[in-house]
Amino acid sequence: MDHTDIIIIGAGAVGLALVARLSVKYSVVVLEMEESFGRHTSSRNSETVHSGIYYPQNSLKTKLSLRGNELLYRFMKENDIAHNRCGKYIIASSEDEIPEIERLYKNGIANGVPGLRMADGAEIEKAEPQVRAIAGVHVPTAGIMNSYELMKRLETISKDNGALFSYRSEVSRVEQFNKGYAVTTTSGDSITADIVFNCAGLFSDRVAESAGINIDSMNYRLSLCKGEYYKSDNVKKMNLLIYPVPSPDGKSLGIHNRLFTDGSVTFGPNAYYLDENRADYSMNEKFKEEILYSVSTFMKTDVSDLYPYDCGIRPKLQKPGDKFRDFVITNETSCGLKNFINLIGIESPGLTSCLAIAEYASSLIED
Ligand SMILES: Cc1cc2nc3c(=O)[nH]c(=O)nc-3n(C[C@H](O)[C@H](O)[C@H](O)COP(=O)(O)OP(=O)(O)OC[C@H]3O[C@@H](n4cnc5c(N)ncnc54)[C@H](O)[C@@H]3O)c2cc1C
Repeated sequence: MDHTDIIIIGAGAVGLALVARLSVKYSVVVLEMEESFGRHTSSRNSETVHSGIYYPQNSLKTKLSLRGNELLYRFMKENDIAHNRCGKYIIASSEDEIPEIERLYKNGIANGVPGLRMADGAEIEKAEPQVRAIAGVHVPTAGIMNSYELMKRLETISKDNGALFSYRSEVSRVEQFNKGYAVTTTSGDSITADIVFNCAGLFSDRVAESAGINIDSMNYRLSLCKGEYYKSDNVKKMNLLIYPVPSPDGKSLGIHNRLFTDGSVTFGPNAYYLDENRADYSMNEKFKEEILYSVSTFMKTDVSDLYPYDCGIRPKLQKPGDKFRDFVITNETSCGLKNFINLIGIESPGLTSCLAIAEYASSLIED
């Protein structure tokens, strides 16, 4: 059997950030089930560079989005990756939403998000004339990015460092072997490594289970929550990001404008749990009216021509009705699996945080 220092399972933004970092020092093999990188959540999201305003203080989501925001802008600037630090307003569309805006502002200040400022409706409508708002928080460090360019660059850096990418290699089993692991794919090929990172996104709970972890007692079983985007041809361009107050159940950040770095605009994502635990990227138009209603609460422009565009699926640890769940990023030494490092529940702000997640997860390697 071939041997390498590290196997990374999954070439989404998180796996790619890890291999780019670790391949400087270690031999690394990436096993990815699709024919190329980023075919799942990392290419099906809002591409917002988040600020760290939303989540509880001291959570990994807060720490890693704050650090990730800083690392990502620096990396994108140095590597000529399309992005725009356009900023965003989280807006109140009615008086009863103002307390939530004030709570978010205070939460962001406590989290150390730089530059936050309360804004009145006139300021917001001047900054983005297509929008209606009565108040909001201005978040200057939020922005947009091109996730394909980011992932392509991370793949190139990794290959230049000598990392090997094995596409069309779906991992079916991880077993302890000598002091490390044997990782087997559905085609029956096996490779051994001292260290394994499970970055399998929507399937990361299944990969953990294949390594012998009881995902129910560890609370690692994922619930999948779809988010769909719609487009209106009446909206050609917008100046910055407009987010509503987040949904009170913590399922999502709410339906907002998604700005692409080429200047185009879509709206979404909604949030609904899938019955079956699998990646199904069909659009369910039964939610169209709800989306139209949400977008119309903040857009002055007529968006009644909204039509389905695309969707993504959130790998959530938070089941329906659950409270906040943080990312799981852990070396499973306590399960007897030293240097099997799980990254599970990497939903938003996982793209923003990918470089910081790589920094943090790498620090968990034990001698
Ligand atoms: C609707 C939506 C909007 C979002 N908006 C934002 C946003 O604006 N900003 C932000 O920061 N984050 C956002 N996110 C979250 C962000 O997209 C994710 O956190 C991030 O992309 C996760 O990256 P990943 O590498 O962990 O997962 P993925 O990109 O899903 O990569 C996992 C990889 O593992 C591979 N894989 C799976 N199983 C196996 C196996 N058995 N063997 C081999 N390979 C396997 C898959 O093919 C895939 O390539 C959003 C997510 C959604 C769904």
